[in-house]
Amino acid sequence: MSKTAKKKLGLTCTSTDCENGLHCFKQTKKTVAGHIVGGRCRDCGADLVDWPRITRRELSDVEYTFRSLKYEMIRHHFWHQELDIRAMNYALRKGIDGLIVAAEKRIRITLRPGNPFDGRQTGKSGNPVLYAQHACAVCCRKCVEYWHGIERNRELSADEVNYLTKLIMLYIKDRLPNLPSEGQYVPPIRRSQAIEEF
Ligand SMILES: [Zn+2]
Ligand SMILES: [Zn+2]
Repeated sequence: MSKTAKKKLGLTCTSTDCENGLHCFKQTKKTVAGHIVGGRCRDCGADLVDWPRITRRELSDVEYTFRSLKYEMIRHHFWHQELDIRAMNYALRKGIDGLIVAAEKRIRITLRPGNPFDGRQTGKSGNPVLYAQHACAVCCRKCVEYWHGIERNRELSADEVNYLTKLIMLYIKDRLPNLPSEGQYVPPIRRSQAIEEF
């Protein structure tokens, strides 16, 4: 199958478009201990990310982490994809304060250890937290493992939940810089409109 044909079938965690600087760093082999790690691009071998630096998980160095995430095709897409109307409305209804609560809750639920799913359990529209999860590699325990260096088969510590929540909120503040702290009333999308959207 040609690359273009693949692209039309939809973006996955392992999609690449190396000629345009969009790679996938998830390695095809696990470590001896069974961990999934990041490394060179699995398709073209580009060596673009300083992994020990990323997995230190320091918020003071988050610019480097975000810059690196954008070299990966799936992340790049969600850093640039325009938020859909439902996601925008959700953000306005929650405000920054409500989104922090929602993000932390989503992390606790979707990133339970042993969750058998991969990134597919994390939808791709309707909620800005979902965009953030894909953009920041907080979508599933596999991505959290190879990007952030947190082993996938154990509970997340309070510090780890806090770090991942902060990544999500920094993404949201980057994408929606004028979002107020407090939520506000936003009328629901009428059903006839909702049908037209599909
Ligand atoms: Zn590549
Ligand atoms: Zn994932």
